Amino acid sequence: MDCHVLAPVNLGEAPRCPSCGNAIGMLPQLPPYRVELVLYGRDFGDFVTCSGYDLLVSERFAEAFRAEGLTGLEGFHPAEVVKVRKKRRGPKPSVVPRYLAVTACFAHAAVDLEHSRLRYSDPITCSECLIGGLDAIHGFTLQPGTWRGEDIFRARGLPGRLIVSERFARFVAHHGFTNIQLVPTEDFVKDPDAPRSPPSTPVAKA
Ligand SMILES: [Zn+2]
Repeated sequence: MDCHVLAPVNLGEAPRCPSCGNAIGMLPQLPPYRVELVLYGRDFGDFVTCSGYDLLVSERFAEAFRAEGLTGLEGFHPAEVVKVRKKRRGPKPSVVPRYLAVTACFAHAAVDLEHSRLRYSDPITCSECLIGGLDAIHGFTLQPGTWRGEDIFRARGLPGRLIVSERFARFVAHHGFTNIQLVPTEDFVKDPDAPRSPPSTPVAKA
C-alpha cells in the first residue's frame, strides 16, 4: 500500500543540523493533508510511508499509540483520503479507515560507526549529524548511551531510516497492525548492489 500527497502541497523548512547547518531531512509536508492511497492487496494497512518524511497511521494505530504512552511521533494531523486506487481486481473497498499524518522525531541516538557495517562513497564531515555519502548498510547498531528511549525515531547518521524500539515491535505484534515490516538492526540491509533487500524498518534493541 502506497500513499501520494495531492495538491495543494505545502512544504515547511527542512530540519537542519545545529552544528554544521546542513539539511538532515527532506522538506516536511504541512497541512492540509490530502492523499491518494494505492491499494495492492485487499486491505488497508495501519502504517503507510508517505512522500518525504511523512507517515500515515490509521486512527486505530494513533489511538493505541497515544493510549499506551509510546513516544517519538509528532503531528497527528487528520488526512483526507481523496482517492483510493486499486491495483488488484475485486470489489471496491467499502470502508476507508481514517488516517492521521505523523512524522518521526530526530533523536539524539547516533549510529555506532565502529560497530556497524556501513559503506560510504564520501566521508562524514560533521561529528554531530554524521552526514556523509552513505551508500550501503549491512547491519548497524547504535552508539551505547546515545539513545534516550524514543519508541520510533530517526538516528544521527541514518536520518533516512525509521528505527523503532522493541517495545514498539511488541506493540505492533500485540495489536496486529499491518503494512509494517520490522527487522533487527543488525540484520537490516540496504544496498543498491543487492537490489533484493526488502523495504523494512529496523528494530533498535533496547
Ligand atoms: Zn552536522
